[in-house]
Amino acid sequence: MTTTTHTAIHLYDTTLRDGCQSEDVNFTLDDKLRIAERLDGLGIRYVEGGWPGSNPRDEEFFRAVKQLRLRRARVAAFGSTRRPGTPAAQDRNLALCLAADTPVVTIVGKTWDLHVREDLRIPLEENLDVIRDSIAYLGARTDEVVFDAEHFFDGWAAAPDYALACLRAAAEAGASVLCLCDTRGGSLPDRVTAAIDAVRAALPDVALGIHCHNDCELAVANSVAAVEHGCVQVQGTINGFGERCGNANLVSIVPVLQLKRGYQCVTPEELGQLADVSRFVYELANLEPQKRQPFVGQSAFAHKGGLHVAAVQKNAATYEHIDPALVGNHQRVLISDLAGRSNLLFKAQQFGIDLDADRPEVQALLRELKELEARGYAYEGAEASFEILMRKTVDQTWERFFRLIGFRVIDEKRHEGETPISEATIMLAGPDGAVEHTAAQGNGPVNALDSALRKALGKFYPEVQEVELHDYKVRVLGSEGGTGAVVRVLIESGDAHERWGTVGVSHDVIEASWQALVDSMDYKLHKTRRPLAVRRA
Ligand SMILES: [Zn+2]
Repeated sequence: MTTTTHTAIHLYDTTLRDGCQSEDVNFTLDDKLRIAERLDGLGIRYVEGGWPGSNPRDEEFFRAVKQLRLRRARVAAFGSTRRPGTPAAQDRNLALCLAADTPVVTIVGKTWDLHVREDLRIPLEENLDVIRDSIAYLGARTDEVVFDAEHFFDGWAAAPDYALACLRAAAEAGASVLCLCDTRGGSLPDRVTAAIDAVRAALPDVALGIHCHNDCELAVANSVAAVEHGCVQVQGTINGFGERCGNANLVSIVPVLQLKRGYQCVTPEELGQLADVSRFVYELANLEPQKRQPFVGQSAFAHKGGLHVAAVQKNAATYEHIDPALVGNHQRVLISDLAGRSNLLFKAQQFGIDLDADRPEVQALLRELKELEARGYAYEGAEASFEILMRKTVDQTWERFFRLIGFRVIDEKRHEGETPISEATIMLAGPDGAVEHTAAQGNGPVNALDSALRKALGKFYPEVQEVELHDYKVRVLGSEGGTGAVVRVLIESGDAHERWGTVGVSHDVIEASWQALVDSMDYKLHKTRRPLAVRRA
């Protein structure tokens, strides 16, 4: 897969600046610092921390980031070239960039004649002075100045000589990297590479960078093509966060460059953290990770069709373009109505259940699975429920940890405008028939039932208190055969070591939730009380 080894590529992350332009992304100061640390751990060479001129939080970030012990990431402050008519030494924006006291300052400047004429409204020549002055002024006061050539590819298409003159001015003034920006995200790879070829021919000794936006869903393709045509710095964000349709996604660019083209971006150990860093950034942004995200998504190496599953069991390369472990991801086999015998055997092996293909239980389990799925159960997000189902069917030694005697849930709203009070009472039998009868209040009926169940079970099995409910989803499945709507409840629970999903289906949302809660507790008890030789991490 790997071709020849090329020169090192410098990754430049702008999640904390351009990524924050994303409409649903907001990071606190603390979030930004934690992300900077993870980016450093991932082997990112440059971490752009923000625009000190734009908000006080970014100024605060630059003060606080100095306290972090970053291994090798260089922190960059971002700003724009001086205002026309203002000397660089008196420009507030440049002063704030320097006040951030970073080893790197990146400044964006105009390279499209249309913008110079209609936005800045100054003669084309004067913009060259603006670029030159700004870079020279900063260069004398900081280690390194990166020039972001705004709208470069559009400028190149409209007036290539002028766009090139802007780059030349920046290079002569001492910019370490000229980063060519597809600011509107409207360029296609052939246009990007043709412009880069021409720039390299005209300025052969200058290091070039690439900064793409994803408005045509080509930001990754454009960035990869740009590197192949000689750019040595790639700017982008984690998970492609950014304004409009986002920035180029470093989480895809890095494995493509490194695993498919042999460029050295990060070490193999750092690459192995990619999925983790991606999820971490989603988590802090309070966004659901994208299942289908290439390389790192939950579905990126998930197999559902029975034929595919049979093949990947023989050789994963049949349906996987890379080894998922290289990017910190892993193979998943989904249990669904497409499931064949091979999926089941694969899962059994994963769960540490000794299941021979010829055992009659395999047929019974397949039949039961099909029937349950017809009733609305789905196990893709509820592998713990599936494991319990499998154990109950094939494991002769399966034992129940508790038995429900009965529960009652009351939701009471005593007058308009008052928040309802939910209370659940529960009676269950634990080991040796001991009976526990308790009640609990909750924030809603399901929460009350969950609390009552834990309280009762806690008497027999204290470890259930370690279980936390992370997510609760209800989906109305619609009415079939005139029997009324059925709901499916998916619960995600976790303890300090892992997370697990369980499912319940019923016409009654409380009953569906109950089933999922019981599976969740059963899973936890099974895990702690009956440790297995083979269990997935
Ligand atoms: Zn941008």
